[in-house]
Amino acid sequence: MPRICLRFYAELEDFLPPSRRGQAVEVSFRGPQTAKHLIESAGVPHVEIGRVLRAGETFPLDEVPEDGACLEVCPRKPRERWPADQPAPRFALDGHLGRLASHLRLLGFDTWYCNSVEDADLAALAAREGRVVLTRDQALLKRKIVRYGYWVRALEPREQATEVMARFDVSGLAQPFSRCPRCNGLLRPVSKAEVIDRLEPLTRRYYDEFYRCDRCGQVYWRGSHFGKIVAMVEGWLKAGGESVG
Ligand SMILES: [Zn+2]
Repeated sequence: MPRICLRFYAELEDFLPPSRRGQAVEVSFRGPQTAKHLIESAGVPHVEIGRVLRAGETFPLDEVPEDGACLEVCPRKPRERWPADQPAPRFALDGHLGRLASHLRLLGFDTWYCNSVEDADLAALAAREGRVVLTRDQALLKRKIVRYGYWVRALEPREQATEVMARFDVSGLAQPFSRCPRCNGLLRPVSKAEVIDRLEPLTRRYYDEFYRCDRCGQVYWRGSHFGKIVAMVEGWLKAGGESVG
């Protein structure tokens, strides 16, 4: 049976079992198979693949390597995950990443999230709307229709936000506090008079600046907890290269 060897670099090794890291991976196959298919069969989704080299030369993902070929597979660079000439990325998250969705919305990124979405529907929505799929499900990222996507490594939501900002290098495109963390709607300033009926007595007394979500109507103000939220957001922006943009 023909076989090729694959050498994965940097974070692409995260997709390999620990015992197979740091060494070439052999993949055997029947019939002609593209490099994309063979790399995915070793566990690495196509959206994570940057350059592929054979003997130092670029090898196209849709070409069929010959028996015995050795391919070197590099990860995407941050700006290959989302092109620099595009406006801010819009994300679509799988149903397990609700807290990450709120965090990305706090940063101002348009983030679609529904906790009961099927993989096929999420992939189709992302393709239709030009969204980047973020998921903990590697199989979802192997779907052909997914053009931009990323497998989130961290398990803790705040770390996930740090990771996404660093891997996409899009801090310069963030617009913190412009979006509702609950529903992704846009926040607009409103006068105190417009929302006064909905405020608790102490909020009425101490706060004068208010914002309302244009989708769900939730009212926000910069309350006593706001300093902590700002510190959290600043940490994420720093992770994503503050000076970019
Ligand atoms: Zn809302």
